[in-house]
Amino acid sequence: MRLIFSFLFILLVAVFCHSQYAKIPVQLDSLLTTLYNSGRFNGAVLYAEKGEILFQKSLGISDIRTNNPLTTESSFNLASISKQFVAICIMMLEEKDKLRIDDNVKKYIPELPYENVSIRHLLTHTSGIPDYEALFIQNRSPIDTLDNEKMIRLFAKLKPAKDFEPGTKWSYSNTGYVLLAAIIERISNQTLKVFVDQNIIKRLGLQHTYVHNILNSNIPTNHVFGFSERDGRNVMNDLFYIDGVTGDGNFYASIEDLLKWEQSLYTEKLISKSTMVKVLSPVKLNDGTTYPYGFGWFIDKENEQYSHTGSWVGFKNLIIRDTKNKRTLIVLSSGDNELTRNAARSIFNGNSVSIPGTYLISNVRMIDGTNTPARNVSVRIEGDKILAVGDLKPYKGEMIEDGDGKILAPGFIDTHSHIESSLNRVPEAIAALNQGITTIVSGQDGGSYLMDTLKMRFEKMPRAINVATYTGHATLRELAMGNSNLNRMSTPEELEKMKNLLAAELSKGSLGLSSGLEYEEGFYASRHEVIELAKVAATAKSRYISHIRSEDMNMADAIDEIIDIGRIAKIPVQISHLKIALKDDWGTGPSLLAKLQHARMEGIDITADCYPYDFWNSTIRVLFPKKNFTSLSGSNYAIDHLFDPFGSVMVRFAPEPSYIGKTIAEIATMRNENVANTLLYLVAAAESYEKVHPEANGIETIMGKSMTDSDIIPFLTWAHTNICSDGAIGGHPRGFGAFTRVLGHYVREKKIISLENAIQKMTSLAAEHVGLKNRGVIASGYYADMVLIDPETVKDNSSIKNPGALSDGILSVWVNGIKVYKDKTSTKKYPGKLLLKE
Ligand SMILES: [Zn+2]
Repeated sequence: MRLIFSFLFILLVAVFCHSQYAKIPVQLDSLLTTLYNSGRFNGAVLYAEKGEILFQKSLGISDIRTNNPLTTESSFNLASISKQFVAICIMMLEEKDKLRIDDNVKKYIPELPYENVSIRHLLTHTSGIPDYEALFIQNRSPIDTLDNEKMIRLFAKLKPAKDFEPGTKWSYSNTGYVLLAAIIERISNQTLKVFVDQNIIKRLGLQHTYVHNILNSNIPTNHVFGFSERDGRNVMNDLFYIDGVTGDGNFYASIEDLLKWEQSLYTEKLISKSTMVKVLSPVKLNDGTTYPYGFGWFIDKENEQYSHTGSWVGFKNLIIRDTKNKRTLIVLSSGDNELTRNAARSIFNGNSVSIPGTYLISNVRMIDGTNTPARNVSVRIEGDKILAVGDLKPYKGEMIEDGDGKILAPGFIDTHSHIESSLNRVPEAIAALNQGITTIVSGQDGGSYLMDTLKMRFEKMPRAINVATYTGHATLRELAMGNSNLNRMSTPEELEKMKNLLAAELSKGSLGLSSGLEYEEGFYASRHEVIELAKVAATAKSRYISHIRSEDMNMADAIDEIIDIGRIAKIPVQISHLKIALKDDWGTGPSLLAKLQHARMEGIDITADCYPYDFWNSTIRVLFPKKNFTSLSGSNYAIDHLFDPFGSVMVRFAPEPSYIGKTIAEIATMRNENVANTLLYLVAAAESYEKVHPEANGIETIMGKSMTDSDIIPFLTWAHTNICSDGAIGGHPRGFGAFTRVLGHYVREKKIISLENAIQKMTSLAAEHVGLKNRGVIASGYYADMVLIDPETVKDNSSIKNPGALSDGILSVWVNGIKVYKDKTSTKKYPGKLLLKE
């Protein structure tokens, strides 16, 4: 693995003294060079003080088909910066008494189906008239191109409802400015292009400024065509069938012309000073409040600074005027990248700028998480996100990591994890990273931490991995009912309290409701209680995930229950760690899946997660599904139907630590009694221990052997199952090896599914099943959580005897663009985030 350390990261801090602006040209120059060299700038920038150009530069090309170079005279599509021109045209007409800005728009456009809209409303984005783009796209003939008059006819014909009453709200509106252009055209009896030529361009002596739309076949020589960079390739992104309209955009100008225009606003060449005051005053809404927008200008600071951006097709522009100090910044660009205008604005305002560095992972077989075949690509990371995927050439000085032909996959998402509580002690999260997991979903089986607690933990102790959480049903019960009184149904008042608590947690970013109905804290809840809570989760567009009420003798009822919850509460439901633990039912996995599929066909979004082991890890109490913990017949039932005492090991046992690591059968021999009595003894001893030590946690844990591959394989391969670990630190080997066991044992050795399909089940499918956005796929715009895998050697090494043994074949792991694990070692970086439901 080859690493070139030249990580691109520049930090510019403006030092403001008496010549506080002196450094701006140098800073802009450095910014443009850096961004141009890293393929993130194509455009022209100008900085002026009192009209004097102190910096101007153009870098890049005007047309991706010819690669002609840009110059400072190149004319860019100004996009929404056009609006300030249209506003001035309107004010020129008012000064000539051709209109009044408080006139009703119907005076000029009588067919417009809206009452009480004035020209002022259009100028200030307060008309409430909806935007035209979607309206046209949905109603156009496939060969139609829009123009200003056609837009008016569309509104007259379809009469779409107003978004709000005129003057009551501010809401950016392109329609308003097309209507203003139409008013200019109707009053002047000229096209907007001709009107602007005669009244602005000639008067100001502009050389490279014009109104242009797609219906106009005459292309000026300095014209810039829009494009976007997508995955290392430039693609055209220029005017299309909407762009027969003018007024909201489609003015073109060079940086020098735009400066001349901006300087003219200090003079009376176009309109009087008193009219200009109106243009730059904040709009007053009907309720007396103001919004910082004038006529075509955002007001950053009244009487001091005004600006506007322009974004259309591949163009990303900015103009700022500091009228107090007579400074001007102009950024015009094609290439669809916003970094320059954002950074240049910061420099203009004397703020520090940091440009996210990039690096390239080259020479990898990418499995992108979508179950499409592996591809040979390079991946470019910018900051915490993936910038591009494809045949990418390194930038000058860019750090390159050679992936040596190995598999690059999205970081794995563990939808059922119990390691969050250990991360305060071990934020490196090696248990997760060694198996390629970059995000864990906590709050499982009905038990959770409150969102505020998790936020505080992240602030105090940053983690190497991302954490998201559900809100636990049992946790809500404890908060509402007290934690010593849960072996009963809730009262209506208690249920109401739980609903409010849940709603509050959901509003703070919890992924939804989790339950553990097999455990006593949740077991005594009625189905009604759970459904009522699930409805709250459904209202918040979140999800329900459940360790169902029985995984053995009452499993059929438990499956019916979760389907019912999905059906009645209208919420996506997920079965946690799907398994068949009743020996009598071994091999019935496929018919269970058929039942789930029937529910899906009914429209219930039911899914599952599953871990790849034939033994579970829980409390010995789950071996008594009737909660008859002192009954010898109950104990015998467990031995006959629920687990194998010869293969089941006590992992924790506080009352008698010498039993730890022994099978139940071995403990019976040590105690000189039969297995059934030993089981009763273990439950009773743990119970007495808890009475004496009420604060003790994890008094007893058993790894119960009770599943078979004849169910595990169909469960793992079901199209709606994602992989989980259900892991904790210590105890069950799944805590360190679940994901790598799937990749090594089930994919490479048993070949039950393809590597691409297995990775989908660990990434995009998992993200979908818990409602996480922008993770689980390698594609531009997604977060850069990734894992580099050797498919020939990947395997789990953790075992009952050595549960913390690290996996092989997980070569590198990145979380949010930062490498956190390499060569079986933490890099001691902690870029993990608390992920909130979006
Ligand atoms: Zn569970």
